[in-house]
Amino acid sequence: MPRNKKEAVVVLSGGQDSTTCLFWAKKRYEKVYAISFDYGQKHIKELECAKAITKKYDVEHYIMDLSLLNQLAPNSLTRADIKVDEDAPKVGTPNSFVDGRNMLFLSFVAVYVKQKNITDIITGVSQSDFSGYPDCRDVFIKSLNTTLNLAMDYEFQIITPLMWLDKKETWELAEELGVLEVIKNETLTCYNGIMGEGCGHCPACKLRKKGYDAFLNGKK
Ligand code: ZN
Repeated sequence: MPRNKKEAVVVLSGGQDSTTCLFWAKKRYEKVYAISFDYGQKHIKELECAKAITKKYDVEHYIMDLSLLNQLAPNSLTRADIKVDEDAPKVGTPNSFVDGRNMLFLSFVAVYVKQKNITDIITGVSQSDFSGYPDCRDVFIKSLNTTLNLAMDYEFQIITPLMWLDKKETWELAEELGVLEVIKNETLTCYNGIMGEGCGHCPACKLRKKGYDAFLNGKK
């Protein structure tokens, strides 16, 4: 059966990166689906953001239940009693890292897209700003892509538009796509669950603000 190259699935968390990828995909494909995961995030608002964005911009949205992930690996993004590290540790991964998350997410997405005869999976991971997350690195994505192809005898293509962009360049891309205001106001990146500009002091907010300031400076 010929593969469907006119459609793609975007992994959407409701944050800056994945939402930018959603609009990137909308420019390139005739039809874009979004898929999000419910893994017991403390801030269910993240999912609400994803829902609101897909509804407003007319994207078919599917939310998959992955609450199992939280049972397997308690972490600061899902457990109310674990506080998110404000600074990255010198050694090892930050406590906001969820073991196996991207591997599991992308594997489930692969099963889902194959049912639809789609090959293209788009994810907003970035090696430039990987914040100590090993599963955001290019080498991991390529390795998983090969594994998924072998596992299901299929030609998946995991596409990572932001892989080599830093946060400043991601803001530039949003502007290029004509969605700067959407990304600025309608996405949630903050670990403390505050929309738009966020709390201002968690690692995600710091990174987002640093990038945004650099973006503004670059325009002067
Ligand atoms: Zn924050």
